[in-house]
Amino acid sequence: MTAEQQRVDALLRAMTLEEKIGQLIMPDAGGLTTGPGKPFDIRALVVAGRAGSLLNVTEFEDIREVQRLAVHGTRLGIPLLLGLDVLHGHRTIFPVPFAEAAAFDPDLWRRTARAAAEEATAEGINLTFAPMLDIARDPRWGRIAESPGEDPLVARRWAEAKVRGFQHRSLALPCALAATAKHFAGYGAVAAGREYAPVDLSERLVREVYLPPFEAAVQAGVAAVMTAFTDLAGVPMTANAAVLRDVLRGRWGFDGVVVSDYGAIAELIHHGVAEDLAGAAALALRAGVDIDMASDAYATGLPVALEHGTARMEDVDAAVRRVLSLKAALGLFKVAGAGDPRTPSRPHRVRLRRELAREAAQRSIVLLKNERAVLPLGSGVKRLALVGPLVDARADMLGPWSALGEPDRAVTYLEGLAEALPEVRISAVRGIGTQGGDGAGIREAVAAAAAADAVVLCLGEDRSMSGEAASRASLDLPGLQRDLAEAVLELGRPAIVVLTSGRPLAVEWLAERADAFLAAGFLGHEAGRAMADVLTGRSNPSGRLPVSWPRAVGQVPVPYSQRPGGRPFDPDNVFTSRYLDLSNEPLFRFGEGLSYTTFVLEEARADRSKLGSSDRLLVQVDVRNEGPRDGEETVFLFIHDPVASVSRPVLELKDFARIVLAAGGRGTVSFTLAGSDLSYLDAGLHPRLDAGLVEILVGTSADRKRLHRLQVEICAEIRSERD
Ligand code: BGC
Repeated sequence: MTAEQQRVDALLRAMTLEEKIGQLIMPDAGGLTTGPGKPFDIRALVVAGRAGSLLNVTEFEDIREVQRLAVHGTRLGIPLLLGLDVLHGHRTIFPVPFAEAAAFDPDLWRRTARAAAEEATAEGINLTFAPMLDIARDPRWGRIAESPGEDPLVARRWAEAKVRGFQHRSLALPCALAATAKHFAGYGAVAAGREYAPVDLSERLVREVYLPPFEAAVQAGVAAVMTAFTDLAGVPMTANAAVLRDVLRGRWGFDGVVVSDYGAIAELIHHGVAEDLAGAAALALRAGVDIDMASDAYATGLPVALEHGTARMEDVDAAVRRVLSLKAALGLFKVAGAGDPRTPSRPHRVRLRRELAREAAQRSIVLLKNERAVLPLGSGVKRLALVGPLVDARADMLGPWSALGEPDRAVTYLEGLAEALPEVRISAVRGIGTQGGDGAGIREAVAAAAAADAVVLCLGEDRSMSGEAASRASLDLPGLQRDLAEAVLELGRPAIVVLTSGRPLAVEWLAERADAFLAAGFLGHEAGRAMADVLTGRSNPSGRLPVSWPRAVGQVPVPYSQRPGGRPFDPDNVFTSRYLDLSNEPLFRFGEGLSYTTFVLEEARADRSKLGSSDRLLVQVDVRNEGPRDGEETVFLFIHDPVASVSRPVLELKDFARIVLAAGGRGTVSFTLAGSDLSYLDAGLHPRLDAGLVEILVGTSADRKRLHRLQVEICAEIRSERD
């Protein structure tokens, strides 16, 4: 037994019931003051041993003080877990996940998490509620902005990269930030995209799509998992023993901490599965939830449940052991001896990690249209107009969940372009607000555009329209932005649309009429400079869409990986899978994104045409850069099983890779597949690989018609009775 385990054991033996329950409670300490909405005194809770962790302690002095109180002012001197939503940056804000996923670069994803962790841990935060791993296929849901998108493989890679970035090589390092995989599981599938709504998913979708990112996080050693607010087919996730105990702890062997989402244990009453806080506490504890975030259930309900015998002391002990073990793994006890745990050093002047923020933002921008050679902006542009509500919307550049990022330090699009183009006369007119306004300013915006050689329309959503509790029933440009855009486009000036939003918007009309169209997400502190880099050509755009963009809200969900159905679309037959009034195709496909150079993929090749179950298949494709500039391409490898015992998706992503090529250069992208990569879950949800042909499709987006296709023959059938 290690010294740390001995310490945990000794503590467990010494603890009173109250102290044990205290370790399972995480109050929201926002501000630390007693006042409206804060019915308790946080300091008193800490001193009484009734809070084993806190969330939202943000001030440097407060962090030091509460940690000192826990270590030096309590009977047992147990340090606190201090949690915060460090989701896409701490002080320096990087692009929101919906944007950063477009870089398709796990190393970049890791580096931004690492930078955020360095900043957060330097101030004494030791736990983040990230990465968010909810597959999101419905842009009506505001939290799609926090998610890496629609695809389970991308989300798995994201999970691994972010966990490694936050937690670094070992949790014991002072700069390691314990990560939390959230929200387990299925939250992204809330009915009709409505926040906190029920979730009904087939067991197949849960297993194939919604769980794999979490399994990847567990395999990468994630310290904690957060349960979702929502239910799964009627069983609230915060009480879902079948998934938490049997799958997460049982099948995947997760031995870290499970924390509820904010207030979610008490919400079991509203879900209608518990009568009171004691019932809610009993259900959550039995299901394996260790920490109650910001509800009263464990504090007041758990003692009652224990008394009534509906909760078991051994479950309390197991939960406390996991919490203490995480504290030990973080090295909190060790440093406690020498002073305060992980003594934070006051950041005298916070230096934002500007370079990394700029790189991440550049690579998150997706160029989706570029006609009339309007981009990059050339020397012919002497006068440039920037119009629209997001021209100089500093705070909006950060997006939702921007931790301690100071909005004042964000660079706007206007500032970025003015800095990059000192010779160009730039006029900037908002014209209207993102959501409201009376249209009176539209005329001024049109006048500015009319006097310019080119116009950049900065349209989209403000940051309040994304994130939690930000579902929308419409995917239109909010407010009067369409009026503004149409009036400007009417002029016929070269028009570039920069769309800032936390979700895909259904703006087919806009994409059709603009000469250039860029999806920006929320790019963070360096948004303005990164956008200027791309618009001026200093940076060659390389982002690719991690989600399919619908043409209209009525198409949602429209992921690329749908099953074929019995009557695939046929333009000449109305009795096929189609709408009377709209195409089936998304506006932009998963993987789409342009560059200022031209890449050509040659035929893909494989090193064998037959595959046994233990063989590996090497698939290669040569890529040429035929254009005038150096650039970066992303190549995707999909599979399709045309005849299986159950119907399989038309495309399933199995790998992706980036390749950087100088102008005129060529290179080879290689993928290695194992037999298990080609297997699928049969009707009984057992993994299976059938003898027969499987298609491998390689290309630059989920456009079946443009993918290079080859076939391999699976020689032997494999079935597994276990899962
Ligand atoms: C959100 C979580 C977040 C938590 C703590 C909840 O409302 O759903 O994602 O981690 O608050 O801020």
